[in-house]
Amino acid sequence: MITKDQVVSLQYTLRDDAGNVLDASNGNALVYLHGHNNIIPGLEKELNGMKAGDKKKVTVGPDDAYGQYDPELKFALPREQFADQAPQAGMMVQLQSQQGQIIARIENVDDKQVQLDANHPLAGQTLHFEVEVAEIREATSEELSHGHPHGPGGHHH
Ligand code: ZN
Repeated sequence: MITKDQVVSLQYTLRDDAGNVLDASNGNALVYLHGHNNIIPGLEKELNGMKAGDKKKVTVGPDDAYGQYDPELKFALPREQFADQAPQAGMMVQLQSQQGQIIARIENVDDKQVQLDANHPLAGQTLHFEVEVAEIREATSEELSHGHPHGPGGHHH
């Protein structure tokens, strides 16, 4: 049964409100450490107590997923800052900000400016998961101290 400190392998399909598939495990199970904020809180909460082989549909609102869309996270930078990157709409770029490193998506590029959006691509969206618990096992003490699973599907380091 899924409880804190278990390593869980999960098959899932994620859809948006319109039913479009946003992401899916496609046979490569997501492996995460339960109770350690490895996955969004709204999904983790619903997985509590499930057993291997169990299936469930879970709907998670933005506040329990990737947050509300924040218009203030849209901004522009001078094009010359991207001189060595050939910026194009749709590219994800890493930027250094006063709050540390951020990842932003390029929305638009013109001669002078690059328009960026640092919202998570799923910000503001209600997420519809179909999940199936593939496997559950005890975490090792090393995994617990790292806060994430190791081995197949987990971290390699
Ligand atoms: Zn580790």
